[in-house]
Parts: sequence; structure tokens; C-alpha cells
Amino acid sequence: MSRFFSKRFASLEAYTPGEQPQDQQYVKLNTNESPYPPSPHTRAAVSDGELAALNLYPDPTGTRLRKTLAAHYGVKPENVLLANGSDEVLSFAFMAFCDAETPVAFPDISYGFYPVYAALYGLEAQEIPLRDDFSVNVDAFCAARGMCVLANPNAPTGMALPLSEIERILASDANRVVLVDEAYVDFGTQTALPLLERYENLLIVRTYSKSRSMAGARLGFALGSETLIRDLETIRFSTNPYNLNRLTLLLGEAAIADDAYYAENCEKIAQTREATAARLQALGFTLTPSMANFLFAKHPAISGEALYRGLKARGVLVRHFEKPRIADYVRITIGTPEQMNALFTAVEDILKGDAPCAAQP
Ligand SMILES: *Cc1c(COP(=O)(O)O)cnc(C)c1O
Repeated sequence: MSRFFSKRFASLEAYTPGEQPQDQQYVKLNTNESPYPPSPHTRAAVSDGELAALNLYPDPTGTRLRKTLAAHYGVKPENVLLANGSDEVLSFAFMAFCDAETPVAFPDISYGFYPVYAALYGLEAQEIPLRDDFSVNVDAFCAARGMCVLANPNAPTGMALPLSEIERILASDANRVVLVDEAYVDFGTQTALPLLERYENLLIVRTYSKSRSMAGARLGFALGSETLIRDLETIRFSTNPYNLNRLTLLLGEAAIADDAYYAENCEKIAQTREATAARLQALGFTLTPSMANFLFAKHPAISGEALYRGLKARGVLVRHFEKPRIADYVRITIGTPEQMNALFTAVEDILKGDAPCAAQP
């Protein structure tokens, strides 16, 4: 930290993204991207003519994409906020709805950006422990003060809450925001969308990064009451009104038009997830019941750290979290069936106890 850095950030611990190696080719199962590319129709949205128009600013209201999303989800454009990835929606929401008097609550084991935004904005964060089986303690959230933030399904466990439980938190205090981060909802969890009509305090956060194969385009959005979206727009226009570039706006529209392609990919990924879970269990792994595009797994014979390292030495990247309750686990993104075969070749090799990275002949 330099002598120029503001004192209020002196103890800020920044978010650590998963490794994005730019040199070596890995079987990349560490950041929950889709293994499938965007559809040909989506890719065709960026024509040479559109590239030539990059001298012009994009539409700061993103009206066309907002209308497309609104029609797709059965809401009004006034219920949609666009952002540069859902991380930006989260940032706006922490800024907009919390302050010195209004704290934020989230599970002790969840998406790693929540505590970072809480610290960035100087908020009191209540980390509510998951139960021993990693289920969410809904009663504790009902009793908590301030904004509630829940990923559903949760990360990195993949475990989902039923809508009735989300609704209990919404109803416990109509005067605080309940943010439901649905980054992984498309892989088989019920969305909280049907609750939007009845709960003005519900904010649903979505991303194109996981189920719509567009982590590289940075597109996230929020669905919520006009009141909440208006507040978020005030923050957005006070931060960066051009947060979405022209190309990403077009890609977003094209992807919604091609929804069947992405739905089919999600179905394939869910099937691969179930097959992978069964194979891991057969090898002695314990898994959380994941509804996401990743599995959270531990093995009695090897630590999470050693498994992560052994896999990396064999060209397979997974994610390991150096955190007390989950240090035994690794999080494995669901890839193609071929990528999963590569994972199992490496895992079986490790469990046999061979030296990592056998010398090349
Ligand atoms: C990946 C992820 C995000 C961030 O997604 P982007 O749209 O790529 O910023 C947000 N929340 C959760 C729970 C995630 O796993």
C-alpha cells in the first residue's frame, strides 16, 4: 500500500479471482464458466458494421436489451437494471441499500465478493454460519438486520433454498432489501421471479457468465421493483452510465433470442454434473447436493490443498478455498464429458499415490 492510498482502505482485502492462466493450456474447471461457446447466432450479432460504430457511445439506458429481457422474464423494462457483470450489480446494491445504520447479512460460506464489498463500503457485515450440513439458517436471516444477501443456489456448495424459505425472509421485514443472487439458477433451481409481484424488497441478480457462455462479455442484470431499480439507476448514473459497451449490449439481445441453445447446454451440464457426482462418489468422495454447474467434493484420503495441487500438476485446474470450514473441499466446475474424463484420469492417478507429474519421456 502506498503513502497515497486513502486511509479508509488501509485494511481492505481485495477479492481474489480464480486463476486465469494466459500461458499454459489447462483443463479449466476452476471458475464456473460454460465449457460451450456462445451460439453462432449470438456471435453473428457483432458485425463489421457494429465494430465500425465503436466511435460512438453506447445507449446509456440500454433500452433495447432491457425491453428484450423484460419480455423474456415477464416484467417491465423499469424492472430491469443492466450491469457490467453481476459483480457490478452487487457493488451497486451494497452501495445503494446499506450504510453505517444499515448493515448487510450473508452466509459465512458463500460468494467471496460479498465480504469484499461490505469492507469496501465500510459496512457492518453479519456472517451468518451455515449449519453443519451447509444448509442456510433461514431463521437467523429473518432475525438479522439490514440487507440480506443469499446466493441461490449457494456457492461454493451448490445447495438450493426452496422459494418458501426465500419468501419467509422477504416477509420477515418488508423494509429491508433481500438480494437473491441467481448466478446458477439456470442449472435446475427454482427462480424467485414469481415473488417479484408481491415483494417490493426483492432484488434478483443474474449473470450471462455461467449459463449463457459469456463470462468474457461481462453482462449481468438485476430484476426488481421499480423502486429498487430506480435507486440502482441513480447509483449507476453516478458511477458509469456507459457501463455496458455496444458489443455486449448486442450480444445480450442475440443470446436471449437464442435461449433454446443455452437451455439445452444447461441441460447437458446438469446431466454431466449428475454423472460426475456418481463417479466421484464411487471413488470415495463426499459431495454436497449441488444444483449448480459445479461440484463441491472432499476425499478422506487427501486434503483439499493436496488434491488441488495434484490436479494442477496434471493439467487440471479446480478451485480450493483456504477457509476453515471448507479447506477439505475442492470446487470442480462441470465441463464437457471429455473434460470430465481428463479430470478422472488425473484423480485416479492421484488416489493411486503416484508421484505428481510423472517425468515426461
Ligand atoms: C460468478 C458469480 C458472480 C459474478 O458473475 P459475473 O456476472 O461474471 O460478474 C456473482 N455471484 C455469484 C454467486 C457467482 O458465482
